Amino acid sequence: MRNVVIIGSGPAGLTAALYTARANLKPLVIEGLEAGGQLMMTTHVENFPGFQDGIMGPDLMASMRAQAERFGAEIMRGNVSEVKLDRSPIVITTDDGPIETKTLIIATGASAKLIGLPNERSLMGHGVSTCATCDGFFFRGKPIAVVGGGDSALEEAIFLTRFASEVTLIHRRDTLRASKIMQDKAFANPKIKFEWDSEVIDVKDAAQGVVTAAVTRNLKTGATKEIPIEGLFVAIGHTPNTSLFKGQLEMDAAGYLKTHDGAKTSLKGVFACGDVQDHVYRQAITAAGSGCMAALDAERYLEHL
Ligand code: NAP
Repeated sequence: MRNVVIIGSGPAGLTAALYTARANLKPLVIEGLEAGGQLMMTTHVENFPGFQDGIMGPDLMASMRAQAERFGAEIMRGNVSEVKLDRSPIVITTDDGPIETKTLIIATGASAKLIGLPNERSLMGHGVSTCATCDGFFFRGKPIAVVGGGDSALEEAIFLTRFASEVTLIHRRDTLRASKIMQDKAFANPKIKFEWDSEVIDVKDAAQGVVTAAVTRNLKTGATKEIPIEGLFVAIGHTPNTSLFKGQLEMDAAGYLKTHDGAKTSLKGVFACGDVQDHVYRQAITAAGSGCMAALDAERYLEHL
């Protein structure tokens, strides 16, 4: 019987592991299919406090992992296929069989939706990004494009005009989904150009290992076009990784876990942290902070069992 099982090994999960390990609770982290989370797809991280010269995303995650392990956190490869939260102890089924635990910390994150192009993945962190706050700074004075027509895409496009020489917003329709106020701001910004009714069909140049252009196709005319850019920001939404918990925990309409009074979910003994419960801030540092909250909440819950 475990005191604490943590599902997910991004900044939220590993911070929860560090805190619960230092509280002598011997946590087990099940790292999941995308071990290390979204930072594993990032290159330089310059906005995580404490790293004056920045740090590579995978190095930051390796360091968080080693720090949690130093205090006795056990990190297990593999994935969770089922959870039964309505009982005590909670039962978690992994590839290696069932595990019983008194508390569960969910840190399964959210996955940025991608267009689905082969080069989009290979150039991720090398000009392709899903986070303007994280990577915008690298595109000072350079032309870039943002894909999407929702609030995220417009927010990113507007933010990116601080750095980029020009931002082309590529949207698959001729009207935006974003709120009126965001649309007004974007239309009023002289640095933002719009490429309507267009989908991105390729990102160049995988052979050089950097982004040099987006190839688009106009969905009305079929015409293709190459837009010279040095960065491509994909902002077509996120999907919270909550399918395991459907029908067991309260979620909002988009599927994000609802938390209250810190990191508590709708069930006692079950806590959530990081992007799986946050579609607003979505930063490594806020995820780490909420991982700490989940650990302290789990610790207090165990004290009163
Ligand atoms: P969203 O509202 O779902 O918008 C996604 C956009 O991406 C849509 O324009 C969609 O096109 C496009 N899209 C989806 N799949 C695509 C694909 N495969 N290829 C090309 N384009 C694709 O997502 P979001 O912008 O991330 O926003 C999520 C929620 O957070 C919304 O409720 C939003 O209002 C909120 N939000 C609010 C703020 C704010 O208020 N400051 C900021 C960010 C987000 P279609 O329009 O054709 O479907």
